[in-house]
Amino acid sequence: MTVLNVNNVSFLRSAARPEQFVQSSDPKIVFAGKSNVGKSSVINRILNRKNYARVGSEPGKTVHINYFRVDGKVLFIDLPGYGYAKVSASEKARWADLMETFFHRETVDIGILILDSRHLPTKDDHTMCSFLKDSGCRFAVVANKTDKLKKSEIPGNLQAIRDALVLADEIPVIPFSAEKGDGRGALLSFLQTSL
Ligand code: GDP
Repeated sequence: MTVLNVNNVSFLRSAARPEQFVQSSDPKIVFAGKSNVGKSSVINRILNRKNYARVGSEPGKTVHINYFRVDGKVLFIDLPGYGYAKVSASEKARWADLMETFFHRETVDIGILILDSRHLPTKDDHTMCSFLKDSGCRFAVVANKTDKLKKSEIPGNLQAIRDALVLADEIPVIPFSAEKGDGRGALLSFLQTSL
Protein backbone atom coordinates (compact mmCIF):
# COMPACT_ATOMS: atom_id res chain seq x y z
CA MET A 1 0.00 0.00 0.00
CA THR A 2 1.36 3.38 -1.04
CA VAL A 3 -0.47 6.56 -0.10
CA LEU A 4 -0.55 8.91 -3.06
CA ASN A 5 -0.93 12.64 -2.69
CA VAL A 6 -2.78 13.14 -5.95
CA ASN A 7 -2.72 16.90 -5.52
CA ASN A 8 1.02 16.83 -6.19
CA VAL A 9 1.15 16.26 -9.93
CA SER A 10 3.34 17.52 -12.75
CA PHE A 11 3.07 17.05 -16.50
CA LEU A 12 6.22 15.44 -17.88
CA ARG A 13 5.94 14.87 -21.60
CA SER A 14 3.78 14.03 -24.58
CA ALA A 15 5.39 11.23 -26.63
CA ALA A 16 4.49 10.57 -30.25
CA ARG A 17 7.44 8.23 -30.90
CA PRO A 18 9.20 5.51 -28.90
CA GLU A 19 12.38 7.66 -28.59
CA GLN A 20 10.24 10.05 -26.56
CA PHE A 21 9.04 7.46 -24.01
CA VAL A 22 9.91 8.55 -20.46
CA GLN A 23 12.72 6.46 -18.97
CA SER A 24 12.02 5.91 -15.31
CA SER A 25 12.18 3.22 -12.68
CA ASP A 26 9.07 4.65 -10.96
CA PRO A 27 5.92 2.46 -10.93
CA LYS A 28 3.83 2.99 -14.05
CA ILE A 29 0.03 3.22 -14.15
CA VAL A 30 -1.50 3.27 -17.64
CA PHE A 31 -4.96 4.56 -18.53
CA ALA A 32 -6.50 3.27 -21.76
CA GLY A 33 -9.84 3.70 -23.47
CA LYS A 34 -11.53 4.55 -26.71
CA SER A 35 -11.94 8.16 -27.79
CA ASN A 36 -14.72 9.95 -25.95
CA VAL A 37 -15.19 7.31 -23.24
CA GLY A 38 -14.17 9.94 -20.70
CA LYS A 39 -10.55 8.92 -20.13
CA SER A 40 -9.37 12.51 -19.63
CA SER A 41 -12.33 13.16 -17.32
CA VAL A 42 -11.52 10.07 -15.22
CA ILE A 43 -7.86 11.13 -14.87
CA ASN A 44 -8.90 14.68 -13.98
CA ARG A 45 -11.36 13.33 -11.41
CA ILE A 46 -8.66 11.19 -9.77
CA LEU A 47 -6.29 14.17 -9.71
CA ASN A 48 -8.96 16.59 -8.42
CA ARG A 49 -8.34 18.80 -11.45
CA LYS A 50 -10.69 20.28 -13.97
CA ASN A 51 -8.39 20.35 -16.94
CA TYR A 52 -5.16 18.51 -16.37
CA ALA A 53 -5.64 15.83 -18.96
CA ARG A 54 -7.31 17.50 -21.93
CA VAL A 55 -11.06 16.93 -22.06
CA GLY A 56 -12.91 17.01 -25.33
CA SER A 57 -9.85 17.44 -27.51
CA GLU A 58 -10.55 16.47 -31.09
CA PRO A 59 -11.27 12.76 -30.86
CA GLY A 60 -8.69 10.51 -32.36
CA LYS A 61 -6.53 13.32 -33.62
CA THR A 62 -3.73 12.88 -31.15
CA VAL A 63 -1.78 9.62 -31.15
CA HIS A 64 0.28 10.73 -28.19
CA ILE A 65 1.20 9.18 -24.88
CA ASN A 66 0.98 11.74 -22.08
CA TYR A 67 3.09 11.27 -18.96
CA PHE A 68 2.39 12.77 -15.55
CA ARG A 69 4.37 12.31 -12.33
CA VAL A 70 2.19 11.98 -9.26
CA ASP A 71 3.47 12.65 -5.75
CA GLY A 72 7.02 12.52 -7.07
CA LYS A 73 6.96 8.71 -7.16
CA VAL A 74 4.47 7.27 -9.67
CA LEU A 75 3.96 7.79 -13.41
CA PHE A 76 0.41 8.19 -14.72
CA ILE A 77 0.52 7.31 -18.41
CA ASP A 78 -2.42 8.46 -20.53
CA LEU A 79 -2.42 6.23 -23.61
CA PRO A 80 -3.87 7.57 -26.87
CA GLY A 81 -7.62 7.02 -27.35
CA TYR A 82 -8.65 4.59 -30.05
CA GLY A 83 -11.59 3.52 -32.15
CA TYR A 84 -12.62 6.87 -33.57
CA ALA A 85 -14.28 6.05 -36.89
CA LYS A 86 -13.04 9.04 -38.86
CA VAL A 87 -9.35 8.40 -38.20
CA SER A 88 -7.31 7.57 -41.32
CA ALA A 89 -5.90 4.09 -41.86
CA SER A 90 -2.37 5.48 -41.44
CA GLU A 91 -3.23 7.00 -38.03
CA LYS A 92 -4.80 3.68 -36.96
CA ALA A 93 -1.60 1.89 -38.01
CA ARG A 94 0.44 4.45 -36.08
CA TRP A 95 -1.68 3.77 -32.97
CA ALA A 96 -1.19 -0.01 -33.32
CA ASP A 97 2.59 0.36 -33.88
CA LEU A 98 2.98 2.73 -30.95
CA MET A 99 1.01 0.42 -28.61
CA GLU A 100 2.92 -2.69 -29.77
CA THR A 101 6.21 -0.94 -29.07
CA PHE A 102 5.00 0.50 -25.78
CA PHE A 103 3.81 -2.79 -24.31
CA HIS A 104 6.85 -4.64 -25.68
CA ARG A 105 9.28 -2.20 -24.13
CA GLU A 106 7.66 -0.98 -20.93
CA THR A 107 6.98 -2.76 -17.67
CA VAL A 108 3.51 -1.67 -16.67
CA ASP A 109 2.63 -2.04 -12.98
CA ILE A 110 -1.07 -1.17 -13.12
CA GLY A 111 -3.43 -0.99 -16.09
CA ILE A 112 -6.78 0.80 -16.04
CA LEU A 113 -9.11 0.08 -18.96
CA ILE A 114 -11.89 2.65 -19.15
CA LEU A 115 -15.15 1.54 -20.77
CA ASP A 116 -18.59 3.07 -21.16
CA SER A 117 -20.85 1.37 -18.60
CA ARG A 118 -23.75 1.56 -21.08
CA HIS A 119 -22.09 -0.55 -23.77
CA LEU A 120 -20.37 -3.85 -24.31
CA PRO A 121 -16.63 -3.62 -25.12
CA THR A 122 -15.72 -2.97 -28.77
CA LYS A 123 -13.21 -4.95 -30.82
CA ASP A 124 -10.57 -2.31 -30.00
CA ASP A 125 -11.42 -2.59 -26.29
CA HIS A 126 -10.79 -6.34 -26.55
CA THR A 127 -7.42 -5.62 -28.21
CA MET A 128 -6.46 -3.22 -25.44
CA CYS A 129 -7.69 -5.66 -22.80
CA SER A 130 -5.36 -8.30 -24.29
CA PHE A 131 -2.40 -5.90 -24.22
CA LEU A 132 -3.08 -5.27 -20.52
CA LYS A 133 -3.72 -8.91 -19.58
CA ASP A 134 -0.61 -10.06 -21.48
CA SER A 135 1.57 -7.43 -19.81
CA GLY A 136 1.00 -9.17 -16.48
CA CYS A 137 0.16 -5.93 -14.69
CA ARG A 138 -2.41 -5.48 -11.94
CA PHE A 139 -5.49 -4.63 -13.88
CA ALA A 140 -8.92 -3.02 -13.30
CA VAL A 141 -11.77 -1.98 -15.55
CA VAL A 142 -13.46 1.35 -14.93
CA ALA A 143 -17.06 1.41 -16.19
CA ASN A 144 -17.60 5.16 -16.69
CA LYS A 145 -20.72 7.29 -17.21
CA THR A 146 -22.88 5.35 -14.75
CA ASP A 147 -24.79 8.61 -14.22
CA LYS A 148 -26.36 7.87 -17.61
CA LEU A 149 -27.80 4.59 -16.31
CA LYS A 150 -30.62 3.84 -13.91
CA LYS A 151 -29.19 2.52 -10.63
CA SER A 152 -30.99 -0.78 -11.22
CA GLU A 153 -29.22 -1.24 -14.59
CA ILE A 154 -25.67 -0.90 -13.25
CA PRO A 155 -25.03 -4.40 -11.76
CA GLY A 156 -26.25 -6.20 -14.90
CA ASN A 157 -24.14 -4.01 -17.17
CA LEU A 158 -21.02 -4.55 -15.03
CA GLN A 159 -21.57 -8.30 -15.18
CA ALA A 160 -22.08 -8.19 -18.97
CA ILE A 161 -18.76 -6.35 -19.35
CA ARG A 162 -17.02 -8.86 -17.04
CA ASP A 163 -18.42 -11.78 -19.06
CA ALA A 164 -17.57 -10.22 -22.45
CA LEU A 165 -13.92 -9.66 -21.43
CA VAL A 166 -13.71 -13.00 -19.60
CA LEU A 167 -12.21 -11.29 -16.56
CA ALA A 168 -10.73 -13.32 -13.72
CA ASP A 169 -12.56 -12.88 -10.42
CA GLU A 170 -9.77 -10.81 -8.86
CA ILE A 171 -10.02 -8.12 -11.57
CA PRO A 172 -12.38 -5.41 -10.33
CA VAL A 173 -14.93 -3.70 -12.58
CA ILE A 174 -15.40 -0.34 -10.87
CA PRO A 175 -18.62 1.59 -11.51
CA PHE A 176 -17.60 5.20 -12.10
CA SER A 177 -18.95 8.60 -13.02
CA ALA A 178 -16.27 11.13 -13.86
CA GLU A 179 -19.06 13.66 -13.99
CA LYS A 180 -20.42 13.03 -10.49
CA GLY A 181 -17.30 11.64 -8.80
CA ASP A 182 -18.84 8.22 -8.04
CA GLY A 183 -16.22 5.47 -7.86
CA ARG A 184 -13.30 7.82 -7.24
CA GLY A 185 -12.62 6.34 -3.79
CA ALA A 186 -12.75 2.77 -5.10
CA LEU A 187 -10.37 3.50 -7.97
CA LEU A 188 -7.91 5.43 -5.81
CA SER A 189 -7.96 2.64 -3.26
CA PHE A 190 -7.29 0.04 -6.01
CA LEU A 191 -4.30 2.10 -7.22
CA GLN A 192 -2.89 2.61 -3.72
CA THR A 193 -3.26 -1.01 -2.63
CA SER A 194 -1.77 -2.25 -5.93
CA LEU A 195 1.37 -0.12 -5.70
P1 GDP B 1 -11.71 11.07 -23.76
O1 GDP B 1 -11.76 11.33 -25.24
O2 GDP B 1 -11.85 9.62 -23.46
O3 GDP B 1 -10.55 11.70 -23.04
O4 GDP B 1 -13.07 11.69 -23.15
P2 GDP B 1 -13.33 13.09 -22.42
O5 GDP B 1 -12.85 13.05 -21.01
O6 GDP B 1 -12.86 14.21 -23.30
O7 GDP B 1 -14.94 13.04 -22.35
C1 GDP B 1 -15.72 12.91 -23.52
C2 GDP B 1 -17.11 13.48 -23.25
O8 GDP B 1 -17.79 12.65 -22.30
C3 GDP B 1 -17.07 14.89 -22.67
O9 GDP B 1 -18.17 15.62 -23.21
C4 GDP B 1 -17.25 14.64 -21.18
O10 GDP B 1 -17.85 15.74 -20.53
C5 GDP B 1 -18.18 13.43 -21.18
N1 GDP B 1 -18.03 12.60 -19.97
C6 GDP B 1 -16.89 12.10 -19.45
N2 GDP B 1 -17.13 11.36 -18.35
C7 GDP B 1 -18.47 11.41 -18.15
C8 GDP B 1 -19.35 10.84 -17.15
O11 GDP B 1 -18.97 10.13 -16.21
N3 GDP B 1 -20.69 11.09 -17.31
C9 GDP B 1 -21.17 11.85 -18.33
N4 GDP B 1 -22.50 12.03 -18.40
N5 GDP B 1 -20.38 12.40 -19.26
C10 GDP B 1 -19.04 12.19 -19.18
